Amino acid sequence: MNLIDFVSQFPDEESCKQKFKEYREQVGVVCSNCGGQSHYWKKDKEQFECKECGTRTTLKSGTVMHKSKLPYRYWFLAMHFLTSTKKSFSAKEIQRQLGHNRYHPIWHMVHKLRAAMGKRDGEYILAGQIELDEGYFSTERSVEHKHEELKRGRGSQKKTKVLVMAESEIMESPKKGKKPRRVGYLKMKVIEDLKKDSITPLVKSLVNSKSSIDTDGSNSYVELKNFVEHHKAEVIPQNKVGEKLPWVHIAISNAKRQLLNTFHDIKPEFLQNYLDEFCYKFNRRYFGEALFNRLLVTCVSYKNEFRYTYG
Ligand SMILES: [Zn+2]
Repeated sequence: MNLIDFVSQFPDEESCKQKFKEYREQVGVVCSNCGGQSHYWKKDKEQFECKECGTRTTLKSGTVMHKSKLPYRYWFLAMHFLTSTKKSFSAKEIQRQLGHNRYHPIWHMVHKLRAAMGKRDGEYILAGQIELDEGYFSTERSVEHKHEELKRGRGSQKKTKVLVMAESEIMESPKKGKKPRRVGYLKMKVIEDLKKDSITPLVKSLVNSKSSIDTDGSNSYVELKNFVEHHKAEVIPQNKVGEKLPWVHIAISNAKRQLLNTFHDIKPEFLQNYLDEFCYKFNRRYFGEALFNRLLVTCVSYKNEFRYTYG
């Protein structure tokens, strides 16, 4: 959808609200009191009313817009920005485009959208042949650290560790000039450290037990063989990494470039949200114009749980 299509499809607040309601009804409203799934629409109140117990549910409650005071059209425009290009938009840029005078509500909105993308992808378990490796992403240091480092004349960045996994099927006879492996779904997870006690349970929760994992020869991976069908650990010289684990490395370098181009300083606690957006869009790279509607389904399907209070 280009901007002209967007504007003609959603010219005002009412058209966005109607579309949101339509999708909410498709996904289904569940009564928070009795679990009932049949509702009347109370037009005057703009609320659903449970046919069983009479409990009312607002249009936004239980969705990513839960308790949001921002207009639907803001949300729709933000979703349009996030899905209309492979790149991302900073909250600052979206604020500018919307002409809204306060930054924090916009910043929250965009993070809520990213968190919803992460929830959606969280339902998918990787299967088949999987590449796995670690990436190190530059993030901002905490204020205390910054102060110390400035005194010592060092930079103010630190590296946050990320576990990266990509379904990557080995092609029997790859076409000339094409990659020898075909990529499927991608996952990126911020991880506290790279010890096997952190890596093992995380990987276990994200992959199917019938899958086969390829990694380098790091000791952190020794337990992976216990819960997948096959684990191939190979000592990989630095210049062969792109050949042995091609897709995780392409994904890591693309994600790093995108984050660097769009955002100034990323706080470590928000890196996961940015990676969730990157993976969500990577995993739907062939969706084209359908991506906006898919994100709308995601938004009506998950209740917002993103919280952050400015101190
Ligand atoms: Zn009810």
